[in-house]
Amino acid sequence: MTTLKGQIKKDLTGMRFGRLTVLPIHITEKRSTKWLCRCDCGNEKYIYRGTLLAGKVNSCGCLRKEKSKQTLEGNKLSVTHGKSYSRTYRIWMGMKQRCFNPKRHEYPRYGGRGITVCERWLSFDNFLADMGEAPGSLTIDRIDNDGNYEPNNCRWVTRTEQFASRTHTSTEKHKQACRENQKKATEARRKKN
Ligand SMILES: [Zn+2]
Repeated sequence: MTTLKGQIKKDLTGMRFGRLTVLPIHITEKRSTKWLCRCDCGNEKYIYRGTLLAGKVNSCGCLRKEKSKQTLEGNKLSVTHGKSYSRTYRIWMGMKQRCFNPKRHEYPRYGGRGITVCERWLSFDNFLADMGEAPGSLTIDRIDNDGNYEPNNCRWVTRTEQFASRTHTSTEKHKQACRENQKKATEARRKKN
């Protein structure tokens, strides 16, 4: 075919790229070749050889239009049916943010004190496979407040339950701290006596 700077340009005639069929018509420009392509929808369009070979284009543009329409419909669908999916996804994102993003205000209570997300759960698919979708309005809770986000330390709880368990933990810790302080005080008094 066309020889340009000693390179042999391959004839693309008849080749299929997605919905496009290359017609035996091309325009040679300074640095590239444009081939006339016929799309399955009937449109014809000149497309650069490099673009075709790189697999960057699969239609005259009709495919992208259809896809964006599908995405739009998909979004509408997810609002009505898949709300729990997107909520689970947001929970997963939030969990990672708390552990890995120092700019988040919750970070000091999570990532800042060594709480992390297990490697398996860095993938949303794995997280979803282990936890399932967040039921109703439930939120993710770590059973051991000092433990990580990982399959055997997480459960779905109501916000009230979560708050209660945290308060419980802190009350326990507080009590323990008080006991220790008392002990120290008692010991100090003993030493004085
Ligand atoms: Zn088309």
